[in-house]
Amino acid sequence: MTHCVWDDLVGQRRAIGHLRRAVETGTVSHAYLFVGPTGSGKKSAARALACALFCAADGCGACPACRRARAGTHPDLHMVSPEGVAEYLIAQVREIIHDVHLKPIEAPYKVYVFDDVGRLKSEAANAFLKTLEEPPADVVVVLIADDYDDVLPTIASRCQVVRFAPVATGTARALVIERTGASEGEARAALAAADGVIPRAIDLLRSPGRRNARAAILGVLKRLVVMDGHDVLLAARALLAEVRAPVEEVKSAQADELDEARDFLTRGAASDIEKRHKRELTAREREGVTELMSVTESWLRDCLVMARGAPELVDNADAADATAEIAVVLSVPAAIKALDAVRTARSRIAYNVSPQLAVEAMLFDIQEVLRCPR
Ligand SMILES: [Zn+2]
Repeated sequence: MTHCVWDDLVGQRRAIGHLRRAVETGTVSHAYLFVGPTGSGKKSAARALACALFCAADGCGACPACRRARAGTHPDLHMVSPEGVAEYLIAQVREIIHDVHLKPIEAPYKVYVFDDVGRLKSEAANAFLKTLEEPPADVVVVLIADDYDDVLPTIASRCQVVRFAPVATGTARALVIERTGASEGEARAALAAADGVIPRAIDLLRSPGRRNARAAILGVLKRLVVMDGHDVLLAARALLAEVRAPVEEVKSAQADELDEARDFLTRGAASDIEKRHKRELTAREREGVTELMSVTESWLRDCLVMARGAPELVDNADAADATAEIAVVLSVPAAIKALDAVRTARSRIAYNVSPQLAVEAMLFDIQEVLRCPR
């Protein structure tokens, strides 16, 4: 069954109504700022907007333009994220500005989606202002941020702001179940591992590699308390290998895409695809490490809600035996200390500490809490 592209979004009637109307009445703004919490569907909405602009039927969801924009493989849809350690690079922004002024390849428009635009700062931001204010007529820029206050006022003031509301967990779960046929428990666990981001949860359920990685993380957490130091180091290494393994799935999908396209591609277009593939692999690797953190965090939260006598709030039902055992002895301050270890690991990785070191330190800290849980 095919869906109209706007059906990918749930719980955003106002934001989507606004965007649909803009497309249908030909009043699409040249620059949008999509603001809303993680998992509210900002990126899916940006992709849907691109479909609607590329498609002859305002986003039918079934034509080649819609299918490719949705899959992120349309040459006129550019998904951009910060290439620097903590922010967008000036060189990166200059390259984009140059690209913005080239004609679209296939579609009547080009769409640039900037993820995490709170990280567009100082020089890089200044370099982009003029383009943001007056892009070519066939260009639409969509900036994405979790929090309006993170975005520089000079950037935000040049955009039409569209706000996305948090999606109720029940709504998100229902959509994941509808799209994947997963059980309630599986959908819940996948959403917890994906920080509530619906497309990521759906992809996880469809990826054997990512499901294995999740199981491996839970396996280590269950055994953590009895491991010695050497075991912990080995476990950290094994987990990182496990979360990176699904990269092979991405690689094989990419090889298929290139094979399919090779016959009618010019050399330039092929190298663009290769560049995009490289970015996708880096993003997948980063996402794998994030998932490791998110699964760990949700498992610890499960221990905490069990300790507080609310088992109905447990997200990882398949690990409930171990959680229940720990919950009997776990104090709230101890649980919070363990959760802090995850937060520290996340920020270390954001600031370029090696994932291996960050994960090792996190596992040792959690182990200490689990050994002395009162
Ligand atoms: Zn279409």
